[in-house]
Amino acid sequence: MKFRKDFVTNSSSSSYICEITGDTRETYNGELESSGLIQCVNEHVFDDSYVIDNFTLDQWKKDFIDLANKYIEENLSSIESRKTYNTDEEQKEYEQTITEDNKGLRKNIEDVKLLKSKKEIDDFYEQTEVFEEIESDLGSNILFKCQCPICSMKIASKSDYKRYVNKIYKLNEEKIKSEILNKFKTYEELENFLNEKD
Ligand SMILES: [Zn+2]
Repeated sequence: MKFRKDFVTNSSSSSYICEITGDTRETYNGELESSGLIQCVNEHVFDDSYVIDNFTLDQWKKDFIDLANKYIEENLSSIESRKTYNTDEEQKEYEQTITEDNKGLRKNIEDVKLLKSKKEIDDFYEQTEVFEEIESDLGSNILFKCQCPICSMKIASKSDYKRYVNKIYKLNEEKIKSEILNKFKTYEELENFLNEKD
């Protein structure tokens, strides 16, 4: 889940919310990292101090293979779903590109299976183009599930907390929002109420 809102005044800066602390941060030139935030492959955005370092090699391998397989599937379904081509030549070229892409990804999977230590991850990172492609697709440095405290079930995010509460207590968000609007005449009244100690 991505919490992004572009500032109207400056198209090159955006603000993001850390899903762990709820802090809002401004980024420059759309680069998430410039604000000290980072995004995992599941699009959880959080302060980079929460990144998990002590993941195991097997966890990392599994995450890599899952992600590569996801890209392979997406590539295949893009061939399925794209019905219109200007020429037969164009279709052939497109399908060839996808096939090559998937061949590369399958080779990456086989290579990753052979890694023997976490140290070798860095070398793999250097040697392969797959990260660059995935990173440009994600728009940020790649961060696997095993490195994300939310994906690893070490920390529950603000938004998951909210979704869980809504579900468990069967709260109707729209109904509650109109209750808020009916109950408070000004935004200051609402703020004061929310800041009151129970
Ligand atoms: Zn995550």
